[in-house]
Amino acid sequence: MKYVVVTGGVMSGLGKGITAASTGRILKNKGYNVTAIKIDPYINIDAGTMSPFQHGEVYVLKDGGEADLDLGNYERFMDINLTSPHNITTGKIYKTVIEKERRGDYLGKTVQIIPHITNEIKERIRNVAKASGAEICLVEVGGTVGDIESMPFLEAIRQMRSEEKVEDLALIHVTLVPMDTMGDQKTKPTQHSVKELRELGVTPDIIVGRCKKPLEQSTKAKISMFCDVPEAAIISAHDADDIYKVPLQMEKEGLADYLMKRMNLPVREDNQSWNQMIKRMESANRTITVGIVSKYGIEDVYLSVKEALKHACIASGCRVNIKWIESEDVEKASDPARFFNDVDGILVPGGFGNRGVEGNIKAIQYAREHNIPFLGLCFGFQLAVIEFTRHVAGFPDATSSELGPGTHVIDLLPEQKDVKKMGGTMRLGEHMVWVKDNTLAHRLYGKGKISERHRHRYEVNPDLIDHIEHHGLIFSAKNDNRMEMCELPGHKFFLGTQFHPEFKSRPERPAPPFLGFVQAMLK
Ligand code: GLN
Repeated sequence: MKYVVVTGGVMSGLGKGITAASTGRILKNKGYNVTAIKIDPYINIDAGTMSPFQHGEVYVLKDGGEADLDLGNYERFMDINLTSPHNITTGKIYKTVIEKERRGDYLGKTVQIIPHITNEIKERIRNVAKASGAEICLVEVGGTVGDIESMPFLEAIRQMRSEEKVEDLALIHVTLVPMDTMGDQKTKPTQHSVKELRELGVTPDIIVGRCKKPLEQSTKAKISMFCDVPEAAIISAHDADDIYKVPLQMEKEGLADYLMKRMNLPVREDNQSWNQMIKRMESANRTITVGIVSKYGIEDVYLSVKEALKHACIASGCRVNIKWIESEDVEKASDPARFFNDVDGILVPGGFGNRGVEGNIKAIQYAREHNIPFLGLCFGFQLAVIEFTRHVAGFPDATSSELGPGTHVIDLLPEQKDVKKMGGTMRLGEHMVWVKDNTLAHRLYGKGKISERHRHRYEVNPDLIDHIEHHGLIFSAKNDNRMEMCELPGHKFFLGTQFHPEFKSRPERPAPPFLGFVQAMLK
């Protein structure tokens, strides 16, 4: 097993995740079987209980793991499927160590950060990498070098370095190379952050410099001299107009050549499919505008939705322009038309709680009544059912028990009734879904049995299904008597999914609901 560890310095948000994902993609293109681990030094067990405002999207893995959004980037870039153990957090590590201590596994020893916590970290990294069946494992250490939280993880990496063969572990350090007012590239922050890393006993093999413009040769020479890293191993990560271009850019910068030599990895093949995908993306000659109505005004919260739209557009020869619409603004407006007269389609994504909900419902009503392509995901699906039940099926007080009193057309899942804990207790991960023949859903998926990822506590109330269908909204996919998709025959495109198709969408394999939605908008 070989490991490529990615650390970050200077500040957060430099694109370590994209660097790790792109490195993985490059190695995959060269014929290697890759996997990835994300280390999040926070104390939460997982991202499932975190506010989207704090942490961006909660990405759902096939086994129901609720993870950091970087795992989504890994899955999309490397075209792999990860599981919950691929996201290591301080919470998970300490929980295991404390459980072991209580069981008496440490035989009376004093349990300490070194060696017990660091051993647990190393063991997890190695076990997860091995179990994946991959040859190379990317390990991204979240946070910034110097943070107290990430110390035990960097110490574990330092130890792994001496335990593994030299060619089996390489370390990429991502730093910032800012420009001064004269436009000169400044290397001091990089020097300091490498110095900080070396104080922990860890020397980088490769430095990736995030910068506005390509790193100049003189900048590379300076970083090389101060940081003891050969010039060929200083990679310029200048702003790219699309994240999917980063692997190509880094390869051009010589990352593959250097890394593969350093790790003794011969080039096995030269897979061009990613490049071809980029070419398709660049040759698009039309643009569609999608209005996404949500209450979290930050794009990171719906990263996978945004990416899934992009994938569907790449396959359809167009570009997407996303108009983020605040649901609370729609809620307050007397005439919602002004939000939607310049969009080709309306999307209502997942969400929780009351705030802004009436705005979402107004948006759905507008899409339904004006024959505008509509896609509702999870909460968006539930709200579409509520909207229809209120305005067509004769229950003006229809709502969800999540939202308050009324006719509960959306109700708590029966198995959720006694659930008291918050973390990891929703209906999570991949579940089978059976799709009805002769429906839009079946035309999109082209088969009757699919598996999709879920994250919800509520569902369509089974007692009202016949009544709703009688009025024309069809439930076109289910899992037993759990409704999984709805659609409106006769409408240009009106589809809701209880699951989250965005999590299985890949740049080269768009999710069918998104593809259908984009193609309806193009018509
Ligand atoms: N709040 C809804 C539920 O729990 C929808 C969840 C979601 O959109 N992920 O069922």
